Amino acid sequence: MARTTPSRPLDLAAVFPELAATARPVTRLHPRSGAPTAGDSSVGGPLLWPRDEAWPMCTKTHEVYEVVEFAAVRAAHHLSVARWSRPDDRRPTAEEEEVFERARPKEFGDLYTAPVPLLPVAQLYARDVPGLPCPDGTDLLQILWCPFMDHHDDIPAVQLHWRAADEVTDVLAAPPEPDVIELEEYWPAPCVLYPEQVVEHPGLSQLPADLGARVCAWQEETGHYYNAFSGAPGWKTGGWGAPEWREETPTEPVRCTCGAVALPLFTLGGAEWHGNDEGAWRTVEDADDRRCYPPVGDPTNVRLGDEKLQILRCPGHADHPPVVARVY
Ligand SMILES: [Zn+2]
Ligand SMILES: [Zn+2]
Repeated sequence: MARTTPSRPLDLAAVFPELAATARPVTRLHPRSGAPTAGDSSVGGPLLWPRDEAWPMCTKTHEVYEVVEFAAVRAAHHLSVARWSRPDDRRPTAEEEEVFERARPKEFGDLYTAPVPLLPVAQLYARDVPGLPCPDGTDLLQILWCPFMDHHDDIPAVQLHWRAADEVTDVLAAPPEPDVIELEEYWPAPCVLYPEQVVEHPGLSQLPADLGARVCAWQEETGHYYNAFSGAPGWKTGGWGAPEWREETPTEPVRCTCGAVALPLFTLGGAEWHGNDEGAWRTVEDADDRRCYPPVGDPTNVRLGDEKLQILRCPGHADHPPVVARVY
């Protein structure tokens, strides 16, 4: 079943003709809790990783205060999913209680020096994701991160790998996994994707000052700009990049090391819709989302406080390193 963003509540170009030129395609990934395989696009799913290629490890010494047992986090998640599928009997058994107990954070308060296998964050096949800017000869993007956040400026250590999927004939079946991770919410839970391309407009701070001030006034009066046009919530590719600040003061864009304004490649974290957006981003197929675990529109388990993470790319050179930024 596809997932569909409702049509916009009004014609933005009729209110602000200047904004017609700022519409950019963005692909909402619409992750939903599931059991993806290495042959699927996914969040938190198994990667199509060549058996003869070393699995990426973070070798930094991490300063951590608490850790949580990785296998227990995953087991507790799957138990919770299963419990919610049996509506009449959600009381955990004694064995289940034991798993939930193991999945609680434990004090660590030391330097964690062992190498840490990175965790799969997402895998995107070009065939599934409209507009995925694959470098020549590739059709698959894999994103991994270190499940400890003690990195420069608390920006997670993210790795990107572009591949040609048909070159991976011998797939690594059981990648190494960390014994512990820093927080439960740094484990992306397995989700299948229902990508959908829609249109997104820039944040107020990305507009010229005069136009930004007028749109800001309209936003304060009606709420429509952020509710329905700018900053599509949830996991997505493309669209407008950092900063997604909700302020009218123009802000410097994020740049590649070569100086070019970087383009957003991938945005992660956050729910697909909020209570206050009047349903503009809630997919029509999920209009009746009952309370469940995980929440229909927020199934990835990933939390970065109030922030999202954006991975931006050089517009001209596929070999320039990506830029990673936290955005609101
Ligand atoms: Zn690390
Ligand atoms: Zn560059």
